[in-house]
Amino acid sequence: MTRTAAIIGAGVIGAGWAARFLLNGWNVRIFDPEPAARDRVAAVLDAARLALPGLGDVALPPEGDLSFPGLISETVRGADWVQESVPERIELKQKIYQALQSSMEEGAILASSTSGFTPTELQAGSPRAGQIIVAHPFNPVYLLPLVEVVGSDRNDPKVLDRATEVLTSIGMAPLRVRSEVPAHIADRLLEAVWREALWLVKDGVATTAEIDDAIRMGFGLRWAQMGLFETYRIAGGDGGMAHFLHQFGPALKWPWTKLMDVPEMDDDLVDRIATQSDAQSGTLSIRELEAQRDRNLVGLIRALGPNAWGAGAVQQQADARNLATSGVPERFEDIDPTRPVRTIRRAVPLDWIDYNGHMTEARYLHVFGDATDRMMILIGCDRDYVAAGQSFFTVETHIRHIDEVRAGAPLTVLTRVLEGEGKKMHLWHELYSDDRLLATAEHMLLHVDLQTRKSVEMPPVLSNRLATLVGGHADHPRPDGLARAVGDKPS
Ligand code: NAD
Repeated sequence: MTRTAAIIGAGVIGAGWAARFLLNGWNVRIFDPEPAARDRVAAVLDAARLALPGLGDVALPPEGDLSFPGLISETVRGADWVQESVPERIELKQKIYQALQSSMEEGAILASSTSGFTPTELQAGSPRAGQIIVAHPFNPVYLLPLVEVVGSDRNDPKVLDRATEVLTSIGMAPLRVRSEVPAHIADRLLEAVWREALWLVKDGVATTAEIDDAIRMGFGLRWAQMGLFETYRIAGGDGGMAHFLHQFGPALKWPWTKLMDVPEMDDDLVDRIATQSDAQSGTLSIRELEAQRDRNLVGLIRALGPNAWGAGAVQQQADARNLATSGVPERFEDIDPTRPVRTIRRAVPLDWIDYNGHMTEARYLHVFGDATDRMMILIGCDRDYVAAGQSFFTVETHIRHIDEVRAGAPLTVLTRVLEGEGKKMHLWHELYSDDRLLATAEHMLLHVDLQTRKSVEMPPVLSNRLATLVGGHADHPRPDGLARAVGDKPS
């Protein structure tokens, strides 16, 4: 059954939560007294629909329903998850919890996006403290997987386990924070860097642009894929972390940094930072910067996927879960052999778009190649089969480009097996976005021995399955635009 999330406060963070839940198939109800909140949610949803569906290689579940009931009580009644993202003022949050808890289910989770408050502070005065937890996300919530999950000793650990499951199911990477500390883990690290950056500007050592370059040209890239400790482990060379600590540990005492001192935020410093920041990126609007940020983040996260590393590994796990609801068969037994096989269900990623604003030519081949890979897996030519020494090589591809498609749009490939016996597998793929035919591809493959690199007859385990599909697909009309007659020998 479709689950429901109630979003209380739809600013930058609340709107991002709304997008993440909605695009992962949840119904979403929003409460925010500010009239501008609806427009903000609409703008964030537009951005999220461009970026999130294509983050992985498998379609997300169908979107849930979005509503703005207008009353807190209607917003939270019957909801499975209530996410509070109102301004960071403890008395405001505690007051809202009274209203929320008088209407929400006892078994539902009430999670706060708070950047700094501890669960104990949030729970003070609540008669049902055990359902209040911290789930602290990062902007943009619809793309960044990290969410810090924090409880107090008034939370049953099972509530935190359930919260972790829910957040994982919407593609996030919950980090269970072991003990309550102000600002949890990530913002403590960020605050230390932020404080040093403010000193560097105040002391005239660097401009805002130079500090941003110092991060994004160097250690920021390292942090995005290995964090701090793994990076320093490598920096220690073959001696690893112990060597690094002995060599660079003493330097911490010199000290290079301003440690806990905070620069006075006087008018001069605020003015200097604002002026430098305007000079750095004032030519771009905030919307343009957000769009650029999303394109960059999608590219970075997708680059980590094939390495199954960091945020890319999280996305791969989400893809594996989404495969079950995508309608793409996972096993041969799941196929209806009388119908074309759905081999791809995904969305166009932001990093597949060219200068014309549509999916670039080479990505059509990418999608069709993935469709052929799926068909190979379904008939039994999977990782183990290849590791045992045989596979298929593609010897011919004919693609017809029929229509364009843009970022975020859904893609489906339906595949027919025209021939599949001896050494040969002849596939016909049709690529659709909803009902619109975008392209067709004909793939001719030969079964090969990976030792000799020569074509060899395929074993019955593959050819029997292919025969089932060839027989099942034979009643369909001959594909329009076939380049190679069925029965031809591949050149
Ligand atoms: P924001 O000011 O952008 O949004 C707050 C929203 O809450 C506004 O739309 C406001 O109208 C609404 N609101 C005010 N009173 C309300 C009420 N009584 N009921 C319902 N809605 C109400 O703030 P934000 O940046 O989205 O931050 C929200 C929370 O998320 C804070 O606790 C903050 O610490 C946390 N957080 C922020 C960030 C960030 O980068 N901005 C990151 C992680 C967590």
